[in-house]
Amino acid sequence: MIEKGSVIGIIGGGQLGRMTAEASAKLGYKTHIYCPDPDSPAFQVSDLHTIASYEDRDSLEKFADSVDVITFEFENIPFDTLKFLEEHANVRPNPKALHITQNRVREKSFVNDIGIKTADFAAVTSLSELEEGYKKIGEGKAIIKTCELGYDGKGQARIENASQIKEIWEGSDFSNAVIEKFVPFEKEVSAIVARGEDGKSLCFPVAENMHKDGILDTSKVPANISKELEEKAKEIATKMADEMDLIGLLAVEFFVTKEGELLVNEMAPRPHNSGHWSMDGCETSQFEQFVRAVCGLEFGPVGITNKVEMKNLIGFDVEKSQEFIGDKQAKLHIYGKKETRKGRKMGHINFIK
Ligand code: AMP
Repeated sequence: MIEKGSVIGIIGGGQLGRMTAEASAKLGYKTHIYCPDPDSPAFQVSDLHTIASYEDRDSLEKFADSVDVITFEFENIPFDTLKFLEEHANVRPNPKALHITQNRVREKSFVNDIGIKTADFAAVTSLSELEEGYKKIGEGKAIIKTCELGYDGKGQARIENASQIKEIWEGSDFSNAVIEKFVPFEKEVSAIVARGEDGKSLCFPVAENMHKDGILDTSKVPANISKELEEKAKEIATKMADEMDLIGLLAVEFFVTKEGELLVNEMAPRPHNSGHWSMDGCETSQFEQFVRAVCGLEFGPVGITNKVEMKNLIGFDVEKSQEFIGDKQAKLHIYGKKETRKGRKMGHINFIK
């Protein structure tokens, strides 16, 4: 157990790090954020920060020596960086979990290997593999996605039919990619599970998610799905966390097919945008639960206290947030990013229903 007053080191200085730092302070911990960006929003609410690259071994070592446990708030951290940090401090979740989720083919193969379904997919490194893969998944509508570093719909292209394949291949770098069958889903849902060092886990109520242009737009809790499906989603997320021996949070995004089946789309070993509702609608927020898991504390309860619809403030939407300042049902969370950019997550509002 990490005693209160200890320092939690967080790799990454974005909004997830910021909200984790706030939750850490609430539980009596200090935070030290490590991020190369001098304008990191998490710096504004943390005790200490280091501005240095993820390859700077001297800075990484000093950082590791100054904290009691290390976690991370985003996935695109070089795996070697976490392996190096692990030599100097306790890293939670373990770098192996991050390694699986850093690559879409690795992630989907892991999911299938433990008996859980995804959309049909094939790995792609060349035009001929793309053509073969497209045939293997049964042709028709498909999506090609870069295996690494893609997020919020970036690094993806839709394929409607075979005649587009060559053009799509030539239009972008898909030399390390996955082609997957387009799923005409009924809805999208996500389950976030917390898992502790003793292997015990607790899942948040499932959220129902709507995306716009590949970016999460709204999350609603409770999700409009059957109790059985809700339990199934939680069961799958828990199994995945168990298999990875994960300490922390695991967020799993699913497609619900028209036949009522769950297919895993992707996962993240950290707090997740689709869990932001919990800040105003749950007995314990995902950020507090994350800190509890990483520090070896007992979990907080996860009952729904309010029905919530979380709306992301993307890009210049954030300017409209002031309209809600006097609205008691609208809980504003602004991330303090220096520059507003199209497509950038600037904040969110939890609307209490
Ligand atoms: P991803 O980056 O994989 O999370 O994809 C972003 C969003 O694109 C998803 O949340 C879906 O709305 C949509 N999408 C991704 N893959 C598929 C698929 N195979 N079939 C249908 N929609 C998809």
